[in-house]
Amino acid sequence: MPEQSAMGHPGPPALPELESIAKRVLGIPTLETRSSDSLDFHDVAVWCVREALEQAYAAGRAGAGTPSESPAIACPRCRESDHDQLVWDDDEHITCQSCGARFDPSQH
Ligand SMILES: [Zn+2]
Repeated sequence: MPEQSAMGHPGPPALPELESIAKRVLGIPTLETRSSDSLDFHDVAVWCVREALEQAYAAGRAGAGTPSESPAIACPRCRESDHDQLVWDDDEHITCQSCGARFDPSQH
């Protein structure tokens, strides 16, 4: 495959998780483009590729589950947290439909 190495795409560096999976499962020391056929192309068994992809998929799922979502907003007076009962105003305040309290969710 003479043309493929010529158009090697450096791109952004691979994620450390992917580097580690490639190293562990595929025996590939780095995912960086080295611009050399012997370094950039590897003979890899399909079951190793499958194992690596499964681990990468699992790592992605695990990473997506980390708490980056915003904490639940609750009414400071009655602790209502049902989003149907908490109505956003135009000025970034919330009116609680349960007890009528109006509050700024950024103030805690
Ligand atoms: Zn309330």
